Amino acid sequence: MIEYGYIMKRITIITTGGTIGSELSRGALRPTADISGLLTTATGQGAPDAEYRFIPLMNKLSENMTGGGTVRIVRAAMDALEKSDGVILTHGTDTLEYTAAALSYAFGLSCPPVVLASAVLPPSHPHSDAPVCLAACAAVAASDMRGVFACFASGERVTVSRASRLLPYLPYSGERFTLGAPFAYVTGNAVLPCPDYSERPDELPPADISALALPSDVLPVLPVPSCALPSPDGKRAVAFISFHSGTLPTARADFADYCRHCLERGVKLYAVCSSPSVLYESAEALSGLGITVLPRMTPASALTRLRLGLDLRLSLGGDILCD
Ligand code: GLU
Repeated sequence: MIEYGYIMKRITIITTGGTIGSELSRGALRPTADISGLLTTATGQGAPDAEYRFIPLMNKLSENMTGGGTVRIVRAAMDALEKSDGVILTHGTDTLEYTAAALSYAFGLSCPPVVLASAVLPPSHPHSDAPVCLAACAAVAASDMRGVFACFASGERVTVSRASRLLPYLPYSGERFTLGAPFAYVTGNAVLPCPDYSERPDELPPADISALALPSDVLPVLPVPSCALPSPDGKRAVAFISFHSGTLPTARADFADYCRHCLERGVKLYAVCSSPSVLYESAEALSGLGITVLPRMTPASALTRLRLGLDLRLSLGGDILCD
């Protein structure tokens, strides 16, 4: 007779701060809230049979996240996975996509689930999205899904995104989109895959992300009209953040001069948020200015890749959008 033993899932929750860990104190939101009660109740709803372990790693508003902080978070998640079947990380929304990208590159697609939880309203607010998001994260962390994810709650519906596909929140709106379709939705405890989602398998091994703690030699540049372009001195690469149609101001004399200046100093040029299939004449002119167009991926993933020196054509953590 074969006996099927029930194996209780072990989930580690690592807290780092953000709105999800904030409380109103002396007139401002501060990341000092004790959320142990919330974590126990909410995650217990998402995966009631799991065994939970809590690691309070840091108390940071994520606008203050540094490369060193990102590396600490990734290492804590790695250590946690040695003793757990899934990891939940709480994080502020402002820079979540950067931590998410670093985790995606450190783990790739084959690790047990690592999932980022966040909220736009603090836990003490009567309409806080924190409990629903945490419950969904617990359901994902206890599942057989592989790789790194981020959950976002809107009412009772939760979107599960590949962590390497997160676009920044739109200013003022509290809206976040992902590049391409979301990975799944969570309703109650059920994680329902999104049929439109597709990803390339890992074509690179998981990366050593420790270089993110070093001073950066990658300069992100947003070349908006009538604003100065920053000095590239001492940098290895300039990453131009393209406008929404995938274009850059290639017919602007100051932009062309800037590109020449960079190339003369050995600074490599990249276009982020563009793609080789953009049809405008300004995009056609990119290669003539020495600009390499990156595959379709988010700004956070592109900048993190450039920092880490990863091969820019090969997918890792599901980051490159399948065309
Ligand atoms: N400034 C907060 C943070 O990123 C706000 C964003 C949030 O968590 O909603 O930590």
